[in-house]
Amino acid sequence: MKRLLSGMRPTGPLHLGHLVGALKNWAALQGQYQCFFMVADWHAHMSEYENAQSIRQYTIDNVIDWLSCGLNPEKSTIFVQSQIPEHTELHLLFSNITPLGWLERCPTYKEQLRELKTRNLHTYGFLGYPVLQAADILIYKAQAVPVGQDQLAHLELTREIVRRFHHLYKKEVFPEPQGLLTETPKLLGIDQRKMSKSYDNFIALSDSADELLKKTAKMFTDPQRIKKTDPGHPQKCNIYSYFSIFSPGQIEELEQECSRGKLGCTECKKRLGEKLNQLLEPIRQKRKELSKHKSTVEDILEQGREKASAVCRQTLTEVKKIIGLY
Ligand code: ATP
Ligand code: MG
Repeated sequence: MKRLLSGMRPTGPLHLGHLVGALKNWAALQGQYQCFFMVADWHAHMSEYENAQSIRQYTIDNVIDWLSCGLNPEKSTIFVQSQIPEHTELHLLFSNITPLGWLERCPTYKEQLRELKTRNLHTYGFLGYPVLQAADILIYKAQAVPVGQDQLAHLELTREIVRRFHHLYKKEVFPEPQGLLTETPKLLGIDQRKMSKSYDNFIALSDSADELLKKTAKMFTDPQRIKKTDPGHPQKCNIYSYFSIFSPGQIEELEQECSRGKLGCTECKKRLGEKLNQLLEPIRQKRKELSKHKSTVEDILEQGREKASAVCRQTLTEVKKIIGLY
């Protein structure tokens, strides 16, 4: 069976973007690949190092969300990145062979420096974010990486690191991993930027029904529409795009009502909120149940650590031999 690896940063609660951009795929691919799912806590630390106490809490919290959305520890290896030191060893090796220019040019690096003004990201570690990601993937020799669109540039870098390693050491060790996208690889947040934990523009899987309704009420709609009777432009409206993702059966009717000025934005947002609440209710129930049994989650992570460690040790031994270390 081919191998797959993916991860998420425990920097906050999981949101709808994770659900449609990654988790849906993760759950569905479990039978088709040997799956490794990782809580990327070192990656969280790269931006949250000034406020690192919350990383541990979100580690457990994020795994609860994964399980609530269909990850099955019998089928998949679920583990915490920092518990497996081989990831950081391979990271160091790749750091030594990755030219600085590749990292400085990375579009996500530039974007995060621009957007995340509340954190000081001008650090040595943060520049190497995609190098650690390459180590995470390649230590399992994973061929596939189910991610959202924002991660594709990092995957390209991983493939470049593979080629550089093979060129330098004249031995083909790693596959060139491919990204697997869902049909919604970039869900926009309530402010129209990419929905992100760090942008405070998200609808969390753990939000209550009331919180969710408040957030949908704040979402941006067609900016040209002032009064309810003005004809709307559904194709320019974030609410409409949400309906097409989460309730495609409703869009024809909505499109007609909106563009004829019969359906106001307030009512439309209320309908969306209700629909999302309906979809999230089963996840909320499972999450509530699992939250009562945190020790079960810890056991799952311990089993995951053991399984993942065995694979990592093998790869690292092989790689150190090839490059000429002990
Ligand atoms: P942060 O702001 O801390 O970076 P994030 O919300 O971007 O958080 P990550 O942990 O970085 O979440 O991403 C985990 C996975 O979810 C990645 O594969 C990423 O591409 C995917 N993902 C995150 N946000 C979205 C989104 N809005 N739409 C689709 N996929 C997403
Ligand atoms: Mg992110």
